Amino acid sequence: MKEKLLEIKNLSKNYSHKKNIYSKNRVIEAVKDISFTVQSQQSLGLIGESGCGKSTAAYLILRLIKPNSGKIFFGNTDITELSEREMQKYRKDIQIIFQHSSVVLDPKMTIEELLKEPLIIHNMVEKNLIDSEIDRLLNMVGLSPSEKRKFPDQLSGGQNQRIIIARAIATRPKIIVCDEPVSALDVSVQCQILNLLKKLKEDLKLTYIFISHDIKVVRFICENIAVMYNGEIIETGKTSDVLNNPKNEYTKMLMNIDLQH
Ligand code: ADP
Ligand code: MG
Repeated sequence: MKEKLLEIKNLSKNYSHKKNIYSKNRVIEAVKDISFTVQSQQSLGLIGESGCGKSTAAYLILRLIKPNSGKIFFGNTDITELSEREMQKYRKDIQIIFQHSSVVLDPKMTIEELLKEPLIIHNMVEKNLIDSEIDRLLNMVGLSPSEKRKFPDQLSGGQNQRIIIARAIATRPKIIVCDEPVSALDVSVQCQILNLLKKLKEDLKLTYIFISHDIKVVRFICENIAVMYNGEIIETGKTSDVLNNPKNEYTKMLMNIDLQH
């Protein structure tokens, strides 16, 4: 059944930027008046070149930064202006997977502690079930529970990305914003992580907003696509329609770059 999960209405975000202490503030319009709706289990791929505003859009949706204007609805609830305290109950439903595991995973925490954290913060299971839940999460992301005594630097980049994914699914979210989740990985590992994300999407009935500069990745995972250019969404629709019949010159150019690889 189709159900509206997330709606973004006319969202804009400016950053002010100073080159040096003598220069005037320069305003960067990172996200300009973007709107889209994501239906349950209809993942949206957000593509565009580096610097076009994809991560800013992700941080806005997660309410990690505040928009200059526009609205964010989770289901029918306007979450744009909620206080951090009020936002807390939605945090477990809207998760994010970042690109760089080294920034996200505290190197001083064991894998077990890293997975315990979201379970405790969001009160996901009874205390006596935490250990078995950690093992279940590790199995779901294709890791052995025997890895849980290790620290992040004792695991490979791909394994750490699996831990980040396990932390995201630990709260049983409805939607996960994946910000270039495989860009920092070797190509062979990229395929494994993409296969995992696709399997989890099906098994857990997840919906992704999947950010990438790589059309191949988005085509593999997403039912719908939105093309961003210079802070704006310039083309959007079903993935097959947009890629089989791109209307915008920039979309055509992105596809040509893709064909050359
Ligand atoms: P993408 O994820 O598509 O590469 P970003 O959202 O990171 O794009 O960046 C969009 C634009 O906003 C870029 O011009 C970037 O330099 C600028 N930008 C991003 N974050 C900041 C910030 N914290 N302060 C100032 N400018 C920023
Ligand atoms: Mg980015």
